[in-house]
Amino acid sequence: MRKNIVAGNWKMNNGLIQTKTLITELKQQKQTSDAEVMIAPSFTNLWHAFEETRQYPIEVVAQNMHFSDDGAYTGEISAGMLKSIGISTVILGHSERRTYYNETDEALAKKVDTALSQEIRVIFCFGEELADRKSGKHESIVENQIKKGLFHLKADAFKDVILAYEPVWAIGTGETASPEQAQDMHAFIRKTLANKYGQEVANSVSILYGGSVKPNNAKEIFSKTDVDGGLIGGAALNAEDFYAIVNAF
Ligand code: PEP
Repeated sequence: MRKNIVAGNWKMNNGLIQTKTLITELKQQKQTSDAEVMIAPSFTNLWHAFEETRQYPIEVVAQNMHFSDDGAYTGEISAGMLKSIGISTVILGHSERRTYYNETDEALAKKVDTALSQEIRVIFCFGEELADRKSGKHESIVENQIKKGLFHLKADAFKDVILAYEPVWAIGTGETASPEQAQDMHAFIRKTLANKYGQEVANSVSILYGGSVKPNNAKEIFSKTDVDGGLIGGAALNAEDFYAIVNAF
């Protein structure tokens, strides 16, 4: 069954000292909701974060990985390397990776396959640009990203896939989609899944919203029927704010 999830994407923030401090602060927070909590520190801090949170209901996840199992890919990290330190979930297709590193739908489809073949769960991100929304193309853009990245999968694979709808115009801008805009898009995403894989699969997949979720807007966004949680950027760097969001369910 689908779960409520709040995942914090730390992006390229926090060296080892700051990571230690933030994890200590996170462990002091009280969780009152049933949400699955995840944090995604940088690669260099994954092992430390994993070790430090072993006894806590916080899953440490990766922000990215390469699609090859190994080889001459200087600077890259493989699924096997993530697994070797206990990581079992990876964020793929974040808009910053699509935009700054030209990650294509085709490359992402390969990454999805590699992750799932290594039993690593995928948080698959997608979302439209502002111009797409203004021109009314947001649904077709999102549909296309989902189809190209995921629709080669068998239905059974979706037990290890989490979707994250992140309108690009709302990421790090302080501008959020309204709860109604989020609900409309999440319902559309679920319908797109249902058309291909059936209602049972569609109902079983968690669909997170990402884009300037903060303690003051999380409750309203999470109250929407098809919103199963959030992928959080800026607010994930502050333990109290992050847990205010975790507890907004
Ligand atoms: C993100 O980076 O996925 C994100 C949603 O960032 P922010 O919460 O800062 O908008």
